[in-house]
Amino acid sequence: MARVLFINAGSEGHINPTIGVVQELISRGEEVVYFTIEAFRERIEKTGATVRTLDGQKIIKAFISGGRTYLLERINGLLLTADIVIPSVLEQIEGEHFDYIIHDSMFGCGRLLAQILKLPAINSCTSFAQTKESFDNMLEQLSNNIPTEVGKQINDEYQSLTAMVREKYNVDIHSPYEVFCNPAPLTIVYTTREFQPLGETFDQTYKFIGPSVSTRVIQDNFDLAAIKGKSLIYISLGTVFNQAIDFYKLCFDAFRNSHHTVVMSIGNQTPLNDLGEIPQNFIVEKYVPQTEVLKYTELFITHGGMNSTNEGLYYGVPLIVIPQSADQPIIAGQVANIGAGMKLNMQGLTANQLREAVGHLLNDPSFHKAVLNIRESMQKSGGYQRAVDEIFEFKSQFDI
Ligand code: UDP
Repeated sequence: MARVLFINAGSEGHINPTIGVVQELISRGEEVVYFTIEAFRERIEKTGATVRTLDGQKIIKAFISGGRTYLLERINGLLLTADIVIPSVLEQIEGEHFDYIIHDSMFGCGRLLAQILKLPAINSCTSFAQTKESFDNMLEQLSNNIPTEVGKQINDEYQSLTAMVREKYNVDIHSPYEVFCNPAPLTIVYTTREFQPLGETFDQTYKFIGPSVSTRVIQDNFDLAAIKGKSLIYISLGTVFNQAIDFYKLCFDAFRNSHHTVVMSIGNQTPLNDLGEIPQNFIVEKYVPQTEVLKYTELFITHGGMNSTNEGLYYGVPLIVIPQSADQPIIAGQVANIGAGMKLNMQGLTANQLREAVGHLLNDPSFHKAVLNIRESMQKSGGYQRAVDEIFEFKSQFDI
């Protein structure tokens, strides 16, 4: 049995795929101490891990204070979280021994903690993976849009933050790539190599284990029986970029007179009352058991979050992707590339357009065929069990 330090200060999309992995690690005898934010305590504790918490509000505040407009600002934001995450973790584990660390690919300063604690590290990558080359290309392209003076300021800030973090914690930071992607000797990616852009460019330290779909905390108040056997459309913009009242009302207009039953998850930021009258064929909730709902879904209208996309494809559901932010436009493009769905733009979207897209997707057999192919490869890829096989292989390489 080994002791595992798990660091994951991200939002729900960063947490969900790790749940199966942690459950499986524990069932194979590992002891897991999992650092997360208070909101996820219950669901992580259910895995059998010991939960310790980080101050989520402070982390978000520090991250946002780096700036939101440009990628290099987000990298500065991540560096600004170091002073919140690192001292807190070190204080809470003082005097304890760990054998290896698993950390999120973005939040929680995992690569820095691995260096400080001198632990073999595994990267838990909940988006598409990036090589240094692909990341640098992206950064360079995005940097072209930055006015020169602003770019210089952001770059100066990056230099002074990295100098501060290096000196304070006695760590190496060689590039923005290291800060943003937290590369490690083993990276677990929760999708397939086929779906990953430029999948063939990743070496054997990247393990594409496919969607990590596991049993989650079941919501008692959602009646799955009410959607079984229906022609079901499921709509969700995920858990972060979901403040979109006009879009939700547009969905009412698009499908109120249709034969479809529509489940719409609107998140915590839009009061249900603000939506006005809910059409009879709609079930609107703040949160639904998505991986259960998808089992009965004919078509998923999604923002193209990595998890929602993987989960939809895992259950063989064609997707209409309406990206909101972050990596979602890239994911939407990839869905369209493999023929498993369509990308629509939020800006200027009309009810008619949405209705037509649904008709097109449901009636053109080529989408169905592509989705069945990708479902097969997603389901065959091994999921959290394969992830833990790879982690155990990694342990043996490090004599753990
Ligand atoms: N989710 C859920 N119920 C909901 C909305 C979302 O279970 O009503 C889950 C979904 O299954 C996925 C995660 O929340 O695992 C959302 O992650 P994703 O990467 O798709 O998007 P994000 O929320 O990070 O934008």
